[in-house]
Amino acid sequence: MRMLRTNHIGNKFSIVRPKINSSDGMDRQESPALSMVFHNGVLQIIDGEHKSDGWAIEIFESRTPIVSTDADLYYQRKPWFGEPAYGYHNILVATVEKTPDMQEYERWANLLVAVQDRMRWLYDQPKIGYVMVFADMKPSDIREPHLQLVTLPSIPPIIETEVRTSYAAKKKMGLCPICQIIDGDSGAERRILVSNNFIAIAPWPASRSYEFWIIPRKHSISFTKMTQADLHDLGMMMRSTLGGLVKTLQDTGFSLVFHLSSEKKKAFRLHWHIEVYPHTAGNTGMDRGFGVSLCDVSPEDAAKDLSVASRLEWANAVGVNL
Ligand SMILES: [Zn+2]
Ligand SMILES: [Zn+2]
Repeated sequence: MRMLRTNHIGNKFSIVRPKINSSDGMDRQESPALSMVFHNGVLQIIDGEHKSDGWAIEIFESRTPIVSTDADLYYQRKPWFGEPAYGYHNILVATVEKTPDMQEYERWANLLVAVQDRMRWLYDQPKIGYVMVFADMKPSDIREPHLQLVTLPSIPPIIETEVRTSYAAKKKMGLCPICQIIDGDSGAERRILVSNNFIAIAPWPASRSYEFWIIPRKHSISFTKMTQADLHDLGMMMRSTLGGLVKTLQDTGFSLVFHLSSEKKKAFRLHWHIEVYPHTAGNTGMDRGFGVSLCDVSPEDAAKDLSVASRLEWANAVGVNL
């Protein structure tokens, strides 16, 4: 039985599912369930495999899904709460083979447009409370970016906490705390890259060395409402900063997560952002058990390295010599 278990101490979620030989969620079905192409500037969705040129993004169902629409509809309330791990697990890939002439940052931008479209569809489905957007990537994956979309029946704990603390801070200080991070000069030495609409910045309390966040510069509460121009800018930003990270740390992989409010919540919404965690440290007892992290490179020094490397990546992408 596939079940999502939760508790009231520390608000933890845990999905228990039958053991599958390969537990890698990136283990995808051989053929895509859908593909998305841009035709005359419009995103079009094609069912299944299609032998035409100009494919942008392929959408696969996971072969080893974390949640499933086949989950037994079994609920438990006492003594502990459990609900079906019901939902969808999609893997979106900007396949290089299908888009050999496309620039890497364009693959990122197209992937983001496809994610936006897929999120809208997923939120329209019944019993979907939240869509998690994330990736665990190897350094080479920046050439062929992929993102996983895994739905949950309810909002995951870290998002709940960020929404709650943002709301409290806004009520107290009159300013969204994410806007506060990007406002003024206080974080200038932790800035990595600034584009028209986005800023990449190392957080003041990093959870690991070289962690950074990408944030819309204007207060923005919905990723699905971003324009194609915004996503083009974000694609450039992601490719440049992640390229900078890979150049700086060489063989180190990374995880990236989109922190977005649920599209189903009408109440206070988070200023959305992307958090990137390089795999520079293992989970330690102190980190996992107490939320106290140890960084051997300060966020200010990390930002200096990442800024130089990311600006070079950006310049290479647009063909400018710095
Ligand atoms: Zn804000
Ligand atoms: Zn966050």
